[in-house]
Parts: sequence; structure tokens; C-alpha cells
Amino acid sequence: MKTHAGEVEAATTGPAFRPALQRALTHAVSHLENLPTARVSSSVTLKALRGRLDRPLTGGGVDPATVVDDIVADTSGGIVGSAGGRFFAWVIGGSLPAALAADWLVSAWDQNAAIHACGPAVAVMEEIAGKWLRDLLRLPHDAAFAFTTGTQLAHVTGLAAARHALLAQHDWDVERRGLPGSPPIRILCGEQRHGSVDRAVRLLGIGSDNVVGLPVDAQGRLARDPLAAALDDAPDTPTVLILQAGELNTGAFDPFAELIPLAHGHQAWVHVDGAFGLWANASPSYRHLLEGVELADSWAVDGHKWLNVPYDSGYAFVKDARALREAVSHRTSYRTPVEGARDQMDWNPEWSRRARGVATYAAIRQLGRKGIAELIDRTCRHARNLVTRIGALPGAEIVWKPTINQGLVRFLSGGPSATEAEHDARTDAVVAGVVRTGDVFFGGVTWGGMRCMRVSVCNWQTNDADIDRAVTAVRAALET
Ligand SMILES: *Cc1c(COP(=O)(O)O)cnc(C)c1O
Repeated sequence: MKTHAGEVEAATTGPAFRPALQRALTHAVSHLENLPTARVSSSVTLKALRGRLDRPLTGGGVDPATVVDDIVADTSGGIVGSAGGRFFAWVIGGSLPAALAADWLVSAWDQNAAIHACGPAVAVMEEIAGKWLRDLLRLPHDAAFAFTTGTQLAHVTGLAAARHALLAQHDWDVERRGLPGSPPIRILCGEQRHGSVDRAVRLLGIGSDNVVGLPVDAQGRLARDPLAAALDDAPDTPTVLILQAGELNTGAFDPFAELIPLAHGHQAWVHVDGAFGLWANASPSYRHLLEGVELADSWAVDGHKWLNVPYDSGYAFVKDARALREAVSHRTSYRTPVEGARDQMDWNPEWSRRARGVATYAAIRQLGRKGIAELIDRTCRHARNLVTRIGALPGAEIVWKPTINQGLVRFLSGGPSATEAEHDARTDAVVAGVVRTGDVFFGGVTWGGMRCMRVSVCNWQTNDADIDRAVTAVRAALET
């Protein structure tokens, strides 16, 4: 047998990485290969997990391969099958093979992706991935970007740029002077929004009292008139308008082409929460729903949901690159700038950081433009089928039939005089019953005052057989 000389040398004289990594590879591949048949929900109690994992903190430590084997044994039954195709709760994606593999390399390379000089190759990969993302999501070609942990921190990043730009218009240098004494910033947004918006506002010191929730329609969309009235109400207040590309429950899109020019007419900054929904812009079949979204000033979107890259992966885009740079950049004497290179620290809110953009680079290369469009179209089709077929079961009712990948159903309590409270209780009981089977995973949510089961399809692996199995599981739960 011929062996590569370098390999022999590494195996005999290099540090002993191979046994632990090989164990991890074996365990990981068997986990992934079992996903199509394995239980989706956890089958272990909190007490049991603590009992197993709280091993004695030894003085001498443990052999690396044994550590890996123990972790796998101790977590058995406690890993939720969200990486597989039968998980429809919250808004969760899996990992594409190339993205997962690239993410392992990121760990092995262990580059500090703070600055180019510290990891030139990963810095350039993030630069290219950012350019590809702008192209796929159809955002302005000169928008600046940051690779964040998720949409939550992408909101913080985009809104930090907004805060800078809006206060600069009032001759207030917020980076130097801070917020005390500055003109208060007002946040306009729909009443139906993701909680990460409010948290970003709090973290930036803008304060939740300055958030104005405007009424929305039955899908969760903001209308022109209440927005126009709010903008007219305090014309001189620095204002951020937050719009949604993909409402969490209905997948609805705000009417960007109408609202963004209106807000810009009042000097407002427009930020878009597009955590999953902005990806619909990568599909020729769905992008008509997002017309005008490219007119905004900043966008927050996730890689770890619909693009199917591992956690944690989000992106912030800011049209006014200078505003983002002024808000987050930091200069130090040890920075070692490289002429013409992109230092991530000029754009990202962290200092030392993982080169998380590498997994995105790999995912985009694996799928290509067409593969990404097909991923969007396929998951939307599965979501529609799933909601339609569950809605046709006796005792079920469709609350929102997906326009993209998100839908809602509920389950009705029998009897002609059943109350809304009884329907709510029935819905929660059926969702719990379905999750208990371990066949599929759904979650409950309150929408329009009703308890509903939310259906979200984001995983690249979901196929027709998974949809059949989900319908069967719900039918069985309805019969008990
Ligand atoms: C998931 C989600 C968020 C938060 O994103 P994270 O990646 O979890 O930080 C924000 N908005 C919407 C619409 C979401 O679906």
C-alpha cells in the first residue's frame, strides 16, 4: 500500500489530532446518515442529561478520543433532529455538506478573522462571499457587509450604522459624545415583528420607549396610511423605519416599493428584517414579492436558516458603507493593515472572531445560483403541500396557506358549541402529541389571538416522503 510521505510524517511526528478527529468524523457521519430515520425530538430527561454530563472534574484530564466518545454517549437522545428533513418548528435550517465540511476546516485552521493579516485566505473568502451574497439577494453592489452570529447581531450592526448616520445629520457625533443629550431616535415598525428588533434597539441605547408599533393587516404587513401619519407626526425626529421581508408566521413582505420612498421622503433610515425571507429574492419565482426591497438602507439576513449553513451565521448589509465603518471600525497600533485588503474589524462588531463566512462561501459554491433558487422553490412547495394536506384532515383548519415557506394550521375541538379556548387547548394538545411521536417536530404559536401550529420548511433535505410522514403523524395525533 502506498502512503503519502507527508501523511506518514504527520502521523508519526505530528501532534496527535488524528484519533480524536477521526472519532468525531465517524460519530458525525453516523449522526447525519441516521437523520432520515432517527427520532426528531429529544428522548432524554433534563435530569438524565445533567447526571451523565456532570462527570467528575478530573485532575489529570482525559485522552482526547475518549472525550469525544464520552460526549457522544452522554448526549445520546438529547440531540434534536433539526439538521434533518422532518423538523418544521420555529425557522430552522440544516447544513449543506460543503458548508459543514468548510466549517470544520475553519475550526481546524483556527484563524482569527479580525484582520486580513491574521488570516489572509479567510479574509478574502469572506470578501468574496459578501459580494456573492449581495448579488444573490439583489442588494446594491456597493453595500458594505458584516458576517455576524445571526440576524439579531445583524440588526445591531445595521442599526448602529443608522444611529451614526441619523445623528450625524443633526451634527451629533454619537461615537464620540454618546447618546446623553442627543436628539432621541424614533423606531417605527409593525406591531407584529420579531423580538430581536426590540432587543437590538435596547442594546444600542435607543430605548424601547422610542419604539412605535404601527398597526398591520391580517398577514402582518404595514400599510401606507398609518406610516404616513406617523412620519408626519414628528417630522424632525431622527427616524428608523423597520420593515419585514418574511413575517415569521405568514412569510408576508411589507410593500417595500411603496413604503421605502415614502420614508425616504421624510429622511428616515429604512432597515429590513429579512432573516429568512430575503432569500426569496434569490428565486425568479418569488422575487416579485420583494419588489423595491433593494431601496432600503440596511438589511439583516441569516445564513443558518434558509441557506443551510451551520450556526452561527448571519449577515448585515449597509448601503452607506461609510456609516457602517464609522459605527464599528476601530484602529489599533498592532493592526498591521495590508494595502487594499479588507479587514473584517472595520465592518464587523466583534474583535477576535471565527471566520464564519467561509461556510457561506462553500454553501454558495455547492448550490450555485440555480441550486439556491431551487432550494427556495422546493421548500416553498413542500410548505404549501404540508399545510394543504394537514388542513384537509378532519378536525384541522388552515389559518395561513403559505405564500413562501411559512404557514399556520389549527385543530378544532369537537362539538358545535366549542369555545375558542377549547380550540386553543386542542391545538396545543395535538402539537404536543405530534412532537411526542418523535416522527416530526412542529411548534405552537399565538397568531391573531388563536393558538396555531406553525409550519416552516427551511431544510434542504426535506423531501416528499418527509411530508407524507408528517401528515401521517398529525393524522394519528388527531385520532387520539
Ligand atoms: C430568526 C429570526 C430573527 C432572529 O435571527 P437570529 O439568527 O436567530 O438572530 C429575526 N427576525 C426574523 C424574522 C427571524 O425569523
